[in-house]
Amino acid sequence: METIVTESPRIAASWLNKGELVAFPTETVYGLGGDMTNDTALRQIFSAKGRPADNPLIVHVDSPGRIQEVVSEIPETARRMVRQFFPGPLTLILKKKKSVSPLVTADLPTVGVRCPAHPVAHAFLKQCNHPVAAPSANISGRPSSTDWRAVHDDLKGRIRCVLKGPQSTIGLESTIVDCSVYPPRLLRKGAVSLSDLRTYVPETAAATTDENTTQPKSPGLKYPHYTPAARVILCEPQSAECSPGRKHAWIGLSEPPESAGKTSRCADADDYAYRLFSFFRECDRESIEVIYCELPPDKGIGHAIRDRLQRAAEG
Ligand code: AMP
Ligand code: MG
Repeated sequence: METIVTESPRIAASWLNKGELVAFPTETVYGLGGDMTNDTALRQIFSAKGRPADNPLIVHVDSPGRIQEVVSEIPETARRMVRQFFPGPLTLILKKKKSVSPLVTADLPTVGVRCPAHPVAHAFLKQCNHPVAAPSANISGRPSSTDWRAVHDDLKGRIRCVLKGPQSTIGLESTIVDCSVYPPRLLRKGAVSLSDLRTYVPETAAATTDENTTQPKSPGLKYPHYTPAARVILCEPQSAECSPGRKHAWIGLSEPPESAGKTSRCADADDYAYRLFSFFRECDRESIEVIYCELPPDKGIGHAIRDRLQRAAEG
């Protein structure tokens, strides 16, 4: 299949409306979209990515009001989060409408919904006839794509169209909160932190480690994620043991070790999130063997970076 790269949201939306798969930019990472009312397109999302069928997709809408098209009820906790964080990098899990295909939700009674804040995503979603089901636009298990070239590297020949936009400004996947239960529960860490959520919904509960590993509420969390081909080793500042002459790389906030062959010093935690996945992919292209990742302070988006680094190191 020929994969078309376009900067036109209109052209991209017309492909999607014809039942084709379209990757599109958002502020978190690039999404791989299909019309949520078209089961053939939904099946293709899973086959294009090599995604396990029990890992549900997130439904994307162009305006907060449209979440009503897919959910059967919006509890007060969700209303408050929508008011505060939509459009933005937050996905809410809510009870689904009957009409939502089980292919979207992997047979769960709930559905994940998000309204991206990205202007290109907005223009694209607005011209799609129905809400768009989309996981991250990468081969399953690989780091999410934060720029259109990464999408193209992974999915060229497997999808019809890539809507080209700038590199995703956040660089990590959305925060996921389950509001189908009371109190709401954080399922995946992201740019909207637990303390941000608690400012508006103080009873929001943290994800427990148990749920993430043994019996996850969010099925996707049980799979290996974010893994570059290189081995990922987590380290504290000034403690990376890079060997000169070896194919070692380093990313972090402090002074890079002199012995590392490839380094990425980030200005702050936001910059770290922005660079992380594209750095992993660059390291793979350069056949780096080991990537030392300095752990950022455990606050704000640092929580989410540490979560992704831990998963990358386990993968
Ligand atoms: P991705 O966009 O590739 O990060 O994948 C979507 C993520 O959303 C996966 O980790 C899913 O487990 C999660 N997700 C989507 N729908 C639901 C749902 N109904 N309940 C819990 N988690 C969900
Ligand atoms: Mg993903």
